[in-house]
Amino acid sequence: MSELRYQLDLLKAMNQKLTEKERIYTKVCESADGAFLYCDPVENRVCALGRWKEFFDFDISETKEFALLLELVEESGLLSLQELLFLERTGEESRTTECRLKGKRAWFRFRAQVYYDREGIPTDKVIYIDNITKMRSQNEELAYMAYYDNMTGLYNRNYFVRLLGEYVKRAEDSNSIISVMTVDIDGFRKVNDSLGIVAGDELVQQFGCFIKELCGEGIIACHLHSDVYCIAIYDPAGNRSAEFLYRAIQKRVKDPFRLISGQELRITVSAGVAEYPEAGVSALELVNCAEIVGANSKELGHNTIQYFNAPVMDDLLNSIELENKLKKAVYDQDFFMYYQPQYYTGNKRLRGVEALIRWRDEDSRMISPATFIPVAEKSGTIIPIGKWVVEESVKQYAAWKAQFGFPFIMSINISALQYKREDFVESTINVLKKYRVRPAEIELEITESVLIDDFEAVSEKLNQLREYGIRISLDDFGTGFSALSYLRKLPIDTLKIDKSFIDNVITDSASRVITESIINMVKSLGYESVAEGVEDEQQYQYLHATGCDVIQGYLFSRPLPPEEVEGMLNTSL
Ligand code: C2E
Ligand code: CA
Ligand code: CA
Repeated sequence: MSELRYQLDLLKAMNQKLTEKERIYTKVCESADGAFLYCDPVENRVCALGRWKEFFDFDISETKEFALLLELVEESGLLSLQELLFLERTGEESRTTECRLKGKRAWFRFRAQVYYDREGIPTDKVIYIDNITKMRSQNEELAYMAYYDNMTGLYNRNYFVRLLGEYVKRAEDSNSIISVMTVDIDGFRKVNDSLGIVAGDELVQQFGCFIKELCGEGIIACHLHSDVYCIAIYDPAGNRSAEFLYRAIQKRVKDPFRLISGQELRITVSAGVAEYPEAGVSALELVNCAEIVGANSKELGHNTIQYFNAPVMDDLLNSIELENKLKKAVYDQDFFMYYQPQYYTGNKRLRGVEALIRWRDEDSRMISPATFIPVAEKSGTIIPIGKWVVEESVKQYAAWKAQFGFPFIMSINISALQYKREDFVESTINVLKKYRVRPAEIELEITESVLIDDFEAVSEKLNQLREYGIRISLDDFGTGFSALSYLRKLPIDTLKIDKSFIDNVITDSASRVITESIINMVKSLGYESVAEGVEDEQQYQYLHATGCDVIQGYLFSRPLPPEEVEGMLNTSL
């Protein structure tokens, strides 16, 4: 009797141990982010664990029910999922695949692991299923942003310039011609002023859709900015010429554009045409040239098409009043520098300052660098200005370090033309040597436009600067051609997220998705992230929570004259 009792107790204890283990396994599975399918390949039994019920609305207990799962996924992923679900038939040990659900945005990753016994007979199989929708949509969003303009669905400026660069290479080899035409809506500002920005945007979008219809073999188009579009035609002739396309556009705009509000808008357009090789031999030159010719055609009166011609172009450039003033300012050295502090997001300690140029013209008006830098770039005046900026900022930094003793980072904006100079690397390093400044304390800010024209040559120079120890930062990220594959190859340390995203992170979920994916991507690449134009506490809190490293913006400080920076450095000592 006591023997029986003993056996019974033993059995009970063993059972308890088993349920205890089962409880632990179940808990572990439940705490995972994904779902598990445990499969018994011999009995064809399946057991669903973890988040299966959250992911799919059917139970599963046998391998033949895999058919239900296969019914859910999109055609493109079907075959690889099928192979994965029956992986033991291939004799493989593990495999991973990603599938999208039919008609949904949802994406799942499946990972199978098969266990075999010594004879190679499959004994167990575990399939782990992960919901990767968020990651996938972030990547898709970033990829889209890299090539397209959000508003019109046309290519964005930078990607267009890159494609045009490929046209140029082809034309070089085959002695072909390329027409580049800018198209601009006459009196667009009036539309915005009288009907509001929403109506203006709608017009830009509808007109952009029409421009898209003109594209095809050897014809590409982009939305340059505001109400300006650009079309490039490879080997133009007959119904594939700028003249022909302009007439097609004229025909379209004879009919009004109908807005959602029911309002009808009649517009006229002007165009400017520049051709390779006559007007320019690089993509950027051609686009700039077509833009200037287009702007001139507006001055001549609306509703016209204007073609590039060299003497007219020279006159045009020289007649620009701002340009002359600029040249005088360079001569008189009428520029000065402001510095805007940047702070680490976590502890709000000073990371460094960005040097921003200021210009007060002879009438004592402050002219914004956003206005005069592009003019200086078009005419080449940026070269002496840029040289002065580097020298002035490095000199200022050396003085501050001597006075206050502690190091920080001085960020300096460098324009594309400066990089193209043969002696850029050497002359920059020489300035650092002259003022005995350590390279790690200087950061150069570049924009993506620097890279699209000639990636190899520019990255070579950037590499030389980095080898010397100077930091490189990619400015205005997100506004142009930000292809991920590109980003990985870039020799940079820091990436600055453009203000246009920061402006909208609180109100717009799409901007949040993009900002978060940029920050995550920057982290995974090992770069530092800086958010620009942070104006309020909510934006700061959000960026802090999202893991952005550095903050710059009016919330903490506007750009300051040097004496105010000194006041600030005094108090942070
Ligand atoms: P950026 O490099 O993107 O510089 C940031 C701009 O954002 C600065 O305008 C700065 O004053 C402004 N900003 C900073 N925080 C806020 C904010 O919270 N709210 C708002 N609304 N704006 C903020 P700034 O100084 O007018 O410069 C405009 C652009 O001109 C710069 O844009 C840069 O591209 C160019 N630039 C300025 N200085 C230089 C220079 O020395 N060399 C070159 N090549 N370009 C320069
Ligand atoms: Ca900058
Ligand atoms: Ca910027």
